[in-house]
Amino acid sequence: MAFHAHPDDEALLTGGTLAKAAALGHRVVAVVATAGELGLAADRAALGARRLAELERAAEILGVARVVSLGYGDSGFRDPAEPPAGSLCAAPLDEVAGRLAAVLVEERPAVLTVYDARGGYGHRDHVRVHDAGIAAARLAEVSTVLAATVDRAVLLRSLRLLGRLGIRVDGTAADAFADAFSAPEEITHVVDVRRQVRAKRAALAAHASQAGGSDDVRTVRLLSRVPWPLSRVVLGREWFVSVGDSPEMGRMDEVFVDVRR
Ligand SMILES: [Zn+2]
Repeated sequence: MAFHAHPDDEALLTGGTLAKAAALGHRVVAVVATAGELGLAADRAALGARRLAELERAAEILGVARVVSLGYGDSGFRDPAEPPAGSLCAAPLDEVAGRLAAVLVEERPAVLTVYDARGGYGHRDHVRVHDAGIAAARLAEVSTVLAATVDRAVLLRSLRLLGRLGIRVDGTAADAFADAFSAPEEITHVVDVRRQVRAKRAALAAHASQAGGSDDVRTVRLLSRVPWPLSRVVLGREWFVSVGDSPEMGRMDEVFVDVRR
Protein backbone atom coordinates (compact mmCIF):
# COMPACT_ATOMS: atom_id res chain seq x y z
CA MET A 1 0.00 0.00 0.00
CA ALA A 2 1.30 3.42 -0.98
CA PHE A 3 0.12 6.47 1.00
CA HIS A 4 0.38 9.71 -0.97
CA ALA A 5 -0.47 13.38 -0.50
CA HIS A 6 -1.70 14.44 -3.94
CA PRO A 7 -2.63 12.81 -7.25
CA ASP A 8 0.60 12.59 -9.34
CA ASP A 9 2.85 11.86 -6.33
CA GLU A 10 2.11 8.15 -6.75
CA ALA A 11 3.51 8.22 -10.31
CA LEU A 12 6.44 10.54 -9.54
CA LEU A 13 7.79 8.77 -6.47
CA THR A 14 6.49 5.21 -6.64
CA GLY A 15 5.06 4.66 -10.14
CA GLY A 16 7.65 2.12 -11.19
CA THR A 17 7.53 0.29 -7.87
CA LEU A 18 3.74 -0.01 -7.92
CA ALA A 19 3.80 -1.23 -11.53
CA LYS A 20 6.53 -3.75 -10.75
CA ALA A 21 4.76 -5.11 -7.66
CA ALA A 22 1.51 -5.42 -9.62
CA ALA A 23 3.29 -7.15 -12.51
CA LEU A 24 4.70 -9.67 -10.01
CA GLY A 25 1.18 -10.49 -8.87
CA HIS A 26 0.97 -8.45 -5.67
CA ARG A 27 -2.23 -6.60 -4.79
CA VAL A 28 -1.35 -2.90 -4.93
CA VAL A 29 -3.42 -0.22 -3.20
CA ALA A 30 -2.91 3.55 -3.39
CA VAL A 31 -4.33 5.89 -0.74
CA VAL A 32 -4.33 9.61 -1.48
CA ALA A 33 -4.94 12.11 1.31
CA THR A 34 -6.09 15.08 -0.80
CA ALA A 35 -7.36 15.84 -4.28
CA GLY A 36 -4.51 18.30 -4.85
CA GLU A 37 -6.96 21.06 -5.69
CA LEU A 38 -4.45 23.81 -4.84
CA GLY A 39 -2.22 22.44 -7.60
CA LEU A 40 -1.64 24.27 -10.82
CA ALA A 41 -4.57 25.39 -12.89
CA ALA A 42 -6.26 28.58 -13.92
CA ASP A 43 -9.62 27.25 -12.74
CA ARG A 44 -9.31 25.55 -9.36
CA ALA A 45 -13.04 24.93 -8.94
CA ALA A 46 -13.12 21.68 -10.89
CA LEU A 47 -9.48 20.81 -10.37
CA GLY A 48 -9.93 18.41 -7.47
CA ALA A 49 -12.38 16.22 -9.37
CA ARG A 50 -10.19 16.32 -12.45
CA ARG A 51 -7.07 15.33 -10.52
CA LEU A 52 -8.84 12.39 -8.85
CA ALA A 53 -9.99 11.21 -12.30
CA GLU A 54 -6.39 11.51 -13.52
CA LEU A 55 -5.30 9.45 -10.52
CA GLU A 56 -7.80 6.71 -11.42
CA ARG A 57 -6.39 6.61 -14.95
CA ALA A 58 -2.76 6.56 -13.73
CA ALA A 59 -3.61 3.79 -11.26
CA GLU A 60 -5.13 1.73 -14.06
CA ILE A 61 -1.94 2.15 -16.12
CA LEU A 62 0.23 1.10 -13.17
CA GLY A 63 -1.90 -1.92 -12.27
CA VAL A 64 -3.10 -0.51 -8.95
CA ALA A 65 -6.06 -2.62 -7.81
CA ARG A 66 -7.73 -0.08 -5.53
CA VAL A 67 -7.55 3.68 -5.05
CA VAL A 68 -8.78 5.19 -1.79
CA SER A 69 -9.22 8.95 -1.38
CA LEU A 70 -9.30 10.19 2.21
CA GLY A 71 -11.00 13.36 0.95
CA TYR A 72 -9.00 16.02 2.76
CA GLY A 73 -8.35 19.39 1.16
CA ASP A 74 -4.95 20.31 -0.21
CA SER A 75 -3.12 22.43 2.41
CA GLY A 76 -0.98 24.23 -0.18
CA PHE A 77 2.80 24.26 -0.17
CA ARG A 78 3.17 27.47 1.87
CA ASP A 79 0.10 29.51 0.86
CA PRO A 80 -2.22 30.24 2.49
CA ALA A 81 -0.15 30.62 5.65
CA GLU A 82 -2.81 28.89 7.74
CA PRO A 83 -3.90 25.53 6.27
CA PRO A 84 -7.49 26.01 4.96
CA ALA A 85 -10.37 24.49 6.94
CA GLY A 86 -10.87 20.89 5.88
CA SER A 87 -7.32 20.53 4.60
CA LEU A 88 -4.98 17.69 5.51
CA CYS A 89 -2.81 19.85 7.76
CA ALA A 90 -5.82 21.38 9.50
CA ALA A 91 -7.06 17.93 10.56
CA PRO A 92 -5.83 16.38 13.82
CA LEU A 93 -3.00 13.93 13.21
CA ASP A 94 -4.84 11.20 15.16
CA GLU A 95 -7.86 11.51 12.92
CA VAL A 96 -5.83 11.18 9.70
CA ALA A 97 -3.86 8.27 11.15
CA GLY A 98 -7.07 6.57 12.28
CA ARG A 99 -8.62 6.81 8.83
CA LEU A 100 -5.53 5.37 7.15
CA ALA A 101 -5.28 2.68 9.83
CA ALA A 102 -8.83 1.55 8.95
CA VAL A 103 -7.71 0.94 5.35
CA LEU A 104 -4.56 -0.82 6.60
CA VAL A 105 -6.68 -3.15 8.73
CA GLU A 106 -8.85 -3.96 5.70
CA GLU A 107 -5.94 -4.62 3.37
CA ARG A 108 -3.18 -5.90 5.72
CA PRO A 109 -0.38 -4.89 3.33
CA ALA A 110 3.07 -6.47 3.59
CA VAL A 111 4.58 -3.02 3.08
CA LEU A 112 3.29 0.52 3.59
CA THR A 113 5.10 3.36 1.82
CA VAL A 114 5.00 6.91 3.18
CA TYR A 115 7.39 9.85 2.60
CA ASP A 116 10.72 10.77 4.12
CA ALA A 117 10.73 13.02 7.18
CA ARG A 118 11.57 16.12 5.10
CA GLY A 119 8.47 15.56 3.01
CA GLY A 120 10.77 15.37 0.00
CA TYR A 121 11.01 18.98 -1.11
CA GLY A 122 9.21 20.26 1.97
CA HIS A 123 5.51 20.44 1.05
CA ARG A 124 3.64 20.42 4.36
CA ASP A 125 1.14 17.83 3.08
CA HIS A 126 4.09 15.49 2.40
CA VAL A 127 5.45 15.98 5.92
CA ARG A 128 1.95 15.17 7.17
CA VAL A 129 1.89 11.96 5.11
CA HIS A 130 5.13 10.91 6.79
CA ASP A 131 3.81 11.58 10.30
CA ALA A 132 0.29 10.23 9.80
CA GLY A 133 1.49 7.21 7.82
CA ILE A 134 3.88 6.11 10.56
CA ALA A 135 1.24 6.68 13.25
CA ALA A 136 -1.30 4.66 11.24
CA ALA A 137 1.12 1.78 10.76
CA ARG A 138 1.63 1.66 14.52
CA LEU A 139 -2.14 1.64 15.13
CA ALA A 140 -2.75 -1.13 12.58
CA GLU A 141 0.39 -3.06 13.57
CA VAL A 142 1.87 -2.92 10.09
CA SER A 143 5.56 -3.39 10.84
CA THR A 144 7.18 -2.78 7.45
CA VAL A 145 7.14 0.89 6.51
CA LEU A 146 9.34 2.42 3.81
CA ALA A 147 9.64 6.13 3.12
CA ALA A 148 9.54 6.89 -0.59
CA THR A 149 12.28 9.37 -1.44
CA VAL A 150 14.78 10.31 -4.14
CA ASP A 151 18.54 9.87 -4.08
CA ARG A 152 19.50 13.54 -3.96
CA ALA A 153 22.82 12.98 -5.72
CA VAL A 154 21.07 11.28 -8.65
CA LEU A 155 18.46 14.03 -8.76
CA LEU A 156 21.02 16.85 -8.90
CA ARG A 157 23.09 14.95 -11.49
CA SER A 158 20.00 14.40 -13.62
CA LEU A 159 19.04 18.08 -13.43
CA ARG A 160 22.55 19.09 -14.57
CA LEU A 161 22.45 16.54 -17.37
CA LEU A 162 19.06 17.77 -18.58
CA GLY A 163 20.31 21.37 -18.39
CA ARG A 164 23.29 20.51 -20.60
CA LEU A 165 20.90 18.97 -23.10
CA GLY A 166 19.01 22.25 -23.22
CA ILE A 167 15.95 21.03 -21.38
CA ARG A 168 15.05 24.09 -19.42
CA VAL A 169 14.91 23.38 -15.76
CA ASP A 170 13.22 26.14 -13.78
CA GLY A 171 15.94 28.43 -12.44
CA THR A 172 15.21 27.60 -8.85
CA ALA A 173 15.08 23.84 -9.26
CA ALA A 174 18.66 23.01 -8.34
CA ASP A 175 18.54 25.27 -5.28
CA ALA A 176 15.12 23.96 -4.29
CA PHE A 177 16.43 20.41 -4.33
CA ALA A 178 19.82 21.03 -2.68
CA ASP A 179 18.56 19.83 0.72
CA ALA A 180 15.55 17.87 -0.49
CA PHE A 181 14.76 14.16 -0.25
CA SER A 182 17.61 11.93 1.00
CA ALA A 183 21.38 11.74 0.84
CA PRO A 184 22.69 8.58 -0.87
CA GLU A 185 23.92 7.14 2.44
CA GLU A 186 20.41 7.38 3.91
CA ILE A 187 18.84 5.14 1.23
CA THR A 188 18.11 1.60 2.44
CA HIS A 189 16.12 0.10 -0.46
CA VAL A 190 16.25 0.58 -4.21
CA VAL A 191 13.80 -0.68 -6.80
CA ASP A 192 15.02 -1.26 -10.35
CA VAL A 193 12.10 -0.02 -12.46
CA ARG A 194 13.81 0.21 -15.85
CA ARG A 195 11.28 -2.21 -17.28
CA GLN A 196 8.44 -0.09 -15.86
CA VAL A 197 9.63 3.24 -17.31
CA ARG A 198 7.10 3.13 -20.13
CA ALA A 199 4.21 2.62 -17.69
CA LYS A 200 5.61 5.29 -15.38
CA ARG A 201 5.80 7.85 -18.17
CA ALA A 202 2.27 7.00 -19.26
CA ALA A 203 1.06 7.41 -15.66
CA LEU A 204 2.84 10.78 -15.43
CA ALA A 205 1.22 11.83 -18.70
CA ALA A 206 -2.21 10.91 -17.27
CA HIS A 207 -1.77 13.81 -14.85
CA ALA A 208 -2.23 16.29 -17.67
CA SER A 209 -3.56 19.07 -15.44
CA GLN A 210 -0.12 19.28 -13.81
CA ALA A 211 1.88 19.56 -17.00
CA GLY A 212 2.08 23.32 -17.33
CA GLY A 213 0.97 26.79 -16.48
CA SER A 214 3.22 27.94 -13.66
CA ASP A 215 6.65 29.20 -12.68
CA ASP A 216 6.83 26.69 -9.84
CA VAL A 217 9.15 23.74 -9.97
CA ARG A 218 7.12 21.50 -12.22
CA THR A 219 8.47 18.03 -11.86
CA VAL A 220 5.74 16.36 -13.89
CA ARG A 221 6.40 18.59 -16.87
CA LEU A 222 10.14 18.19 -16.53
CA LEU A 223 9.99 14.41 -16.39
CA SER A 224 7.49 14.15 -19.21
CA ARG A 225 10.02 16.00 -21.42
CA VAL A 226 12.98 13.75 -20.71
CA PRO A 227 14.17 12.35 -24.06
CA TRP A 228 13.29 8.70 -24.38
CA PRO A 229 16.87 7.26 -24.39
CA LEU A 230 17.63 9.16 -21.17
CA SER A 231 14.46 8.26 -19.37
CA ARG A 232 15.74 4.85 -18.31
CA VAL A 233 18.58 6.63 -16.53
CA VAL A 234 16.47 9.38 -14.98
CA LEU A 235 13.33 7.34 -14.24
CA GLY A 236 14.72 3.80 -13.96
CA ARG A 237 15.20 3.59 -10.21
CA GLU A 238 13.13 4.43 -7.15
CA TRP A 239 14.45 4.89 -3.62
CA PHE A 240 13.23 4.19 -0.12
CA VAL A 241 14.39 4.70 3.45
CA SER A 242 13.36 2.08 5.95
CA VAL A 243 11.39 3.38 8.92
CA GLY A 244 12.86 1.32 11.74
CA ASP A 245 15.87 -0.91 11.51
CA SER A 246 15.13 -4.23 9.91
CA PRO A 247 11.93 -4.40 7.91
CA GLU A 248 10.40 -7.81 7.36
CA MET A 249 10.08 -7.92 3.56
CA GLY A 250 8.88 -11.44 3.02
CA ARG A 251 7.83 -11.87 -0.60
CA MET A 252 8.26 -8.14 -1.20
CA ASP A 253 12.04 -8.57 -1.32
CA GLU A 254 11.58 -9.40 -5.01
CA VAL A 255 10.62 -5.72 -5.41
CA PHE A 256 12.60 -3.84 -2.75
CA VAL A 257 16.34 -4.58 -2.78
CA ASP A 258 18.12 -3.84 0.49
CA VAL A 259 21.25 -1.87 -0.44
CA ARG A 260 22.76 -1.53 3.05
CA ARG A 261 26.20 -3.03 3.38
ZN1 LIG B 1 2.45 16.18 -3.60
